[in-house]
Amino acid sequence: MFPGPLGISLSGDALTRGTWALEARQIREHGIGRHRSVDDTPAGGGAGMVLRCDVLAAAIDAVVAPDDPRPRLLMSPRGKPLSQARVRALSTGPGAVIVCGRFEGVDERVISARGLEEVSIGDYVLSGGEIAALVLVDACVRLLPGVMGKVASGEDESFESGRLEYPQYTRPREWEGHAIPDILNGGNHGAIAKWREAESERLTRERRPDLLTRRKD
Ligand code: SAH
Repeated sequence: MFPGPLGISLSGDALTRGTWALEARQIREHGIGRHRSVDDTPAGGGAGMVLRCDVLAAAIDAVVAPDDPRPRLLMSPRGKPLSQARVRALSTGPGAVIVCGRFEGVDERVISARGLEEVSIGDYVLSGGEIAALVLVDACVRLLPGVMGKVASGEDESFESGRLEYPQYTRPREWEGHAIPDILNGGNHGAIAKWREAESERLTRERRPDLLTRRKD
């Protein structure tokens, strides 16, 4: 699953250049017995299986040195929702150790014992944490210097300013009877900036009024 889609395009090129790196570890290597078992039935009964705390702790301890400065994240629908502000903070930090759950999740004890911070990518349930981790890493990697063509395009986007992005257009000027807004063809950069700001404001008010009052983290 790793680097998966991050192995192509801009993130893939940056991976090849060594702008960022990723080391995927197989939790099953720390599994128990002949079958390298990593999960067991939930205490108290119920459906599904739970990742064992001893197995997960061994997997974490194999990659995290005691003085490792990297935050230890656990992808989890119970976590704090991932935000652009958090992504930006992670992208300027020392990296991250990201634990991906499977099955019904992980034994609660390992979360506190290894200081895992639960991070959610949204209010829906995936079958595993890997795709969530790819989402997080993709969002971080594109902010690293030199990954995107133009640094400026990272700063002008949805959420960076607490607003949704204004509408974008490109050629052709006229398409199926729809023209590009006149103001964008004029070359008056002051007027264009004002129009974009107003459009951002309008779209945010219409679609995500919560962003206008919300803290950014
Ligand atoms: N029973 C759990 C869901 C387990 S889903 C619950 O109800 O909370 C299996 C794994 O997928 C989780 O351990 C987590 O690592 C990952 N996952 C699922 N949905 C996610 C989300 N929205 N954000 C981040 N990780 C998620």
